[in-house]
Formats: sequence, C-alpha cells, structure tokens
Amino acid sequence: MTEETPATVDMEKIISLCRRRGFIFPSSEIYGGLSSCWDYGPLGVELKRNVKEAWWRSMIQERDDVVGMDTSILMHPKVWEASGHLESFTDPLVDCKGCHMRWRADELEGDRCPSCEGELTKSRMFHMMFKTFMGPVEDEAGVVYLRPETAQGIFVNFQNVLNTTRKKLPFGIAQIGKTFRNEITTGNFIFRSREFEQMELEYFVKPGTDEEWFEYWLEARLDWYLKLGIKREHLRQREHAKEELSHYSRRTVDLNYLFPMGWSELEGIANRGDFDLTQHAKSSGKDLSYFEEETKDHITPYIIEPSAGVDRSVLAFLCDAYDEEPDPSAGSGQGKNDTRVVMRFHSSLAPFKAAILPLSRREPLVELAKSVYAMLRQYWRLTYDDAQSVGRRYRRQDEIGTPFCVTVDFQSLEDNQVTVRDRDSMNQIRVPIAELQKTLTAKLAGENFFVLPPGGLVWQETKKGT
Ligand code: ATP
Repeated sequence: MTEETPATVDMEKIISLCRRRGFIFPSSEIYGGLSSCWDYGPLGVELKRNVKEAWWRSMIQERDDVVGMDTSILMHPKVWEASGHLESFTDPLVDCKGCHMRWRADELEGDRCPSCEGELTKSRMFHMMFKTFMGPVEDEAGVVYLRPETAQGIFVNFQNVLNTTRKKLPFGIAQIGKTFRNEITTGNFIFRSREFEQMELEYFVKPGTDEEWFEYWLEARLDWYLKLGIKREHLRQREHAKEELSHYSRRTVDLNYLFPMGWSELEGIANRGDFDLTQHAKSSGKDLSYFEEETKDHITPYIIEPSAGVDRSVLAFLCDAYDEEPDPSAGSGQGKNDTRVVMRFHSSLAPFKAAILPLSRREPLVELAKSVYAMLRQYWRLTYDDAQSVGRRYRRQDEIGTPFCVTVDFQSLEDNQVTVRDRDSMNQIRVPIAELQKTLTAKLAGENFFVLPPGGLVWQETKKGT
C-alpha cells in the first residue's frame, strides 16, 4: 500500500460481521472448512443476488444492444484447446524447502520464502483448471473441465445468438455464472476463492471501432460502481504493460479497488481483438463471421470484454459500506456498546429494504404491525423483528444495512401513522400507513428524507438518535 492510500476497514471486522450476522460462512464448517470455499448465508445471498441484479439491469435490461445467456459449466474439451487455456492457463508455483508453504513465483519479491526466509524450489507451471470425468469410466477420453471463465460459453454461441436475435454490430452477450480455478495462493476471504461467480460481457464491435468502445466500457463500468456507492478514492485504473498482457489481449485495464489488504483487481476490461472467434472458427471448422450488409463483407468482429467478479464486488460493497461512529444512545456503564456499526449499503443492494418493528408484542399492536408487514412485503424483501428493546433492534438493522425501520407503536392504533427511521442519519418521520408504500418507494429511490407525504410530520427532535 502506498502512503497516500486512503484509510480502509480492517478485514477481520468484515469477516466477523459476516459470520455474526449471517452473510458468509466457511464452507463445510462443521468438518473444519474447505480451503477457500465459502457459503453465503441468509443475508449474504440477498446481497449477492442484489449485486447480480444491479449488473443485469445495467448491462441488459436498460440497453437494446445486449442480450443475456446462461451456458453450461461443462463444455467440450476442444473449447479449452482452442481458447489457449489447456496450454497457458497456468501459474508458476514454488515450494519452500523449510516450511513447505506454496507460493506463486510471480507474486514474490525476493527469492526466499516470505514466511520463514527458507530456500525455495525451482518454479514449475501449475495448471489451474479443475479436471473431472464424464461418463462411467475415468480415462483420458472422458476428461472434461470445470470452466475457469464464463466467456467461452458466449464465444461458442456467437452464431446461435446472431441467428436468433438478428443483432447488428455493435452488440453484446452477457452472462453471470459459476467458475472454478485451482488457485495456488488463496486467502483474503472471498477475494480469491477456488469456486466463484463472474459477470461477463462480450461486446462485439467492428474492427477499427474497438479502441473507442474500450474507452466507453471502461467509463461505464467505473460509473456502475460509483452509482452503487463505492467511493471514488477507493477505485483506480491500472493499465497492463505490454509484457503482462494475456495471450488473447491487445489491451487490458484493471479496475482496482482498495481492499483491506491493498489495491487489488476488482474487474478487468480487455480488448480481445478477433482472437476468440478466429480460434473457435479454426478449431471447429464452423463459420463464425459476421455478414455486414452495407459492404457485403464477412468480417470477424473484435471483442471488448468487461469481466467482473461477483464475490469481489460483494467484498468491495461490504468494505465500502462499513462504518463505525460513536453511539448517541449509549448509556454510561449500562452494558451498551458505545459504537454504532452501520453498513451504509446503497438501497438497491441492502439485503432488506425495511424492517417492521412492533413496539411491543401485545395485541392489537402485533396485528397492526403484521398487516403493515404483509402489505409491504409484496414489493420488497423485508424483515419483521419483535425481539428485545426497539433501540437494540435499530442497532441490529443498522449493522445489516437496512435503510429504513418502520415502527408501529400504540399511537399508531389511534392515528394510523407509523414512525419511519432513516439508517444513515437516524432521523425519524411520521407517515400515514396509507402513504407508506409510496413514501418508502420514494425514499429508496433517494428522495430527501424530510420530504413528507400528505399528513406526514417530522418526528420530535428528541426522538432523533435512537
Ligand atoms: P487475478 O490476477 O486476481 O488472479 P485475473 O486477472 O486472473 O485475477 P480474470 O481472469 O481477469 O482475473 O477474471 C475476471 C474477474 O474474475 C476478476 O477481475 C475477479 O473479479 C474475478 N476473479 C478471478 N479470479 C478469482 C478468484 N480466484 N476468486 C474470486 N474472483 C476471481
């Protein structure tokens, strides 16, 4: 990390919050866990779905030039021969002769083991694709691989999509899906795992327009993270030097995020040229060209690829949302924490959009609270919480990033109004139940919290800060 690096959160705090609140658990934990595999819990799965949904919305739903796909994980082995993966999807591996730790040679600074200063073995190439067998016999003829990227499923379907959608250049095909890499060095929580998800767009363009489109996607992708709340000072672009470019790439720029362990890749944007379609056309013997009506030419489009990791995005959103501040409601010596932990997720990413909190478990309060809950859950993922004091319930919701708490109290039985509390400012307004859905819709879309619906009012100042 460099000296001007802005402050960031400690990874241990993120890991501990994720476990405590049910975002992410180690895989197979009761058996001691499985190295670098993770399970998303009840809140994590909501956050992850929301990240994927935000990507799908911006890459497909809001555009006319991109379509989606969901291709299979197991593919014909020839795919990986043509793509170059069989030959070059390797990392240089070294072992320490003393402590037997394994390292990626290209990530080491000196020629000794970073852990014990011991002597290292010569580096050897290690293949990162997971191999398995198809059919009943475990022999060479049955070897298949778990895909190490989602992109190839798109390239081999280029003609299928072209024929069925009649898209004209430039156009894109996008998909989200699981990928597998037998990584040598893992760790840093969900940053580098052996099973993860990618969100990839393959954008096909006319050769000659590729540089322009590269710039376009670079900016569009940066913008996506910023709109979802990532701080600008936590994002950087890193241009790959010529000698580090992958075999298929004419240009690559990484979007790096300031993770707790330092600046690291969040997403890569590559200009793959015509490498993939040319290779697959050659290897399969099928025509993968595009017929341009105006010029009557058959051309092989160039591909611009923004390739993002779902799990790395989730980690970046978790780190950027994490905040601690002095707790204004903390009493002196009454066992209350004096720090408020608040996950300031963008509302579209928050696992729950609102929590419904009855002030007490007594009837007829509960009946009213349940009817408010039933009405609103048709629109959003919500939670209902009636355990412990309302102050503690607010803290719980703050810690999982719920943007709004809706409290139903005894006065609600008389005036048909409820209190809506804002996670970030802890301000409160009073809203008629009949206006609640409209009000929450507006607030979730970013309306100023103090814009009131008809009949609404700003709750007393004294209520602020709980
Ligand atoms: P790295 O240099 O960190 O190994 P990469 O350059 O090999 O990453 P790409 O092949 O460009 O990664 O994959 C695209 C995206 O997929 C990455 O930007 C990252 O978000 C995600 N990704 C890649 N490998 C992993 C992994 N092992 N665990 C989680 N996400 C990953």
